[in-house]
Amino acid sequence: MKNIVSYVFVLIFFLGCEKKEVEVFDVVIRDANVINVLSGEIKKQTLYIRNDRIKKITSHNYLNFTSEFIIDATGKYVLPGFWDNHVHFRGGDSLIQANKATLQLFLMNGVTTVRDAGGDLTRNVMDWKNQIRQKTLVGPTIFSSGPKVDGQNSRWEGSLVVSHNDEINSVLDSLQKLRVDFVKLYDSSISGVLYLKTIAEASQRGLITSGHIPFTVQLDQTLDAGIGAIEHLYYILKGCSSREDSITEAIIKGDENFWSSMPKLLKTYEPLRAQNVFDKLVQADTYVVPTLRISEVLSQLDVDNHFDDVYLKVMPQELLKTYENRVLGFLESSENIKNDRKEIHDFFEVLIKSLSDAHVKILAGSDTGAYNSYIYPGVSLHEELDAMVQAGISNLEALQTSAYNGANFLKKTQDYGSVEAGKISDLVILGSNPLNDIKSTRDIKYVLKGSDVYNPEIIAMQLGCSDCLGLK
Ligand SMILES: [Zn+2]
Repeated sequence: MKNIVSYVFVLIFFLGCEKKEVEVFDVVIRDANVINVLSGEIKKQTLYIRNDRIKKITSHNYLNFTSEFIIDATGKYVLPGFWDNHVHFRGGDSLIQANKATLQLFLMNGVTTVRDAGGDLTRNVMDWKNQIRQKTLVGPTIFSSGPKVDGQNSRWEGSLVVSHNDEINSVLDSLQKLRVDFVKLYDSSISGVLYLKTIAEASQRGLITSGHIPFTVQLDQTLDAGIGAIEHLYYILKGCSSREDSITEAIIKGDENFWSSMPKLLKTYEPLRAQNVFDKLVQADTYVVPTLRISEVLSQLDVDNHFDDVYLKVMPQELLKTYENRVLGFLESSENIKNDRKEIHDFFEVLIKSLSDAHVKILAGSDTGAYNSYIYPGVSLHEELDAMVQAGISNLEALQTSAYNGANFLKKTQDYGSVEAGKISDLVILGSNPLNDIKSTRDIKYVLKGSDVYNPEIIAMQLGCSDCLGLK
C-alpha cells in the first residue's frame, strides 16, 4: 500500500558532512514535540523511521540521512497512534463489506489499533487482521477475541456456548486454535458457576480475559477467578452496593433483573465498600473499560435524534439500519426507565472519577459496532477521551487509557504504547497539545501506520466528508 500523502515535501535530504555514512529511512519526523504519555513530559525530538519501526530518536542533531518522506513537525505534537480498546465487527454475512468499510474511519481518526471485543465475523476479522499486517488492506492493527463466550441462546450470534463443565476446555481450545488475543466473556445466558470456571481455566492457560459479569455472581468472585478487564461500569456499580449479596440472590431467584436492579444499586452505593472494591481492582491488576460515551448517547436518545451527525454521511447504510431497534426500544420505554438510564449515566461520570482517583487502570473503548447507535468508528474514541476529561480525569491520564494502557493490557508493550526507539511507528502528529485541550486529539495532521503516512484530510475528502474532522 503506497502512502497517500500528497504534499510531504522533499524526497531526498542530505545534511551534515559527507564523511559520515548516509543512513536510509522511510520517514523522518523533524523537530516534533514528542509527548511521553506516561510522564507527560514533552521533548523536542526528531524521529527516524524504517521498516515500520522507530529506528532512532535524536534530540539536538540530525543524522546524515536520506528519507522518502520528511515531515517538518515544528510546533506539532507526536504521540502513539490511538487505541480504541473496545470495538465490534459483527452483524452477519450481509454486513461483512460494511464492517470492512469502517476500517479507514479508524485510521482517518488516528486510531491505529483496535481491540475487537467479539462478534460473529471472526473469519473475516482474522483475514483483515492479516491483510492489514501484510499491507494489502488499509486499516488499524486488529487484536481480537474472536467469538464471545456465553451460555446457550446467547444474545449475540456466533457466540461459543459453555453450558456444561466439559465444554469449557473445548471452547478455550477452539479459541486458542484461532489464535485470539484475549477471551471475551458475555453475560446473557452463561451460568454464574460456569462463567467463573471459564475465567479460572483461561487464566490457568495464561490467556488474557475480559468480560461483562453475570448478575448472578458477585464482583469479588470474578476478581478472584482472575478476570483481566471488566467491560462497562454496571458491574463495578453492583460490586459497590451495600446490597450486592441480596440483589444477587434476588437475581438468582428471578425476582430482579439487570435493569430492575439498577436504581436499587444506585441508591445503595456505599463509598467505603467502593474503596475496598477499587483497592481490590488495583491489587488484582484488573482493568476497567468505562465506555462512557455510549452510555451517554444511549441515555439521551429521546433528547438527541442525531439527525445532524456528520458521520451519517460516511457510515455504510447497512450499519446505520442496525441502529434503529435500539433507538425505538428506548423511545418506547417508560419515562421511569428513561430517567433511570440518565441517572445511571450521571453516576457513571462520578464513578469513573473515583476509579481514576483510586488508581484503577482504565481502558478507553468506544463500543463502536453494528447495533450500537451513533457510536461512529474512530471519532467515538475521541468522544470517549473527552467524556473522561469532562468527568474530571486529567488529560494525561485520559491519553494513557488509549495506547499506553491498551498495549499493557494485551501485553504488547514491546511493540506499542509509547514513542520509543525499537517500537512500531504507529503514531499521530497533532497540530496542538492534547495536554492543554483534550479536543486536540482530533487535530490530526498525519497518521503513521508503520512506515506509511496518511493525511486524514485526504481520506476525509475522498469519503466526501471534509467536515468529519477537526476540533469539535
Ligand atoms: Zn461491546
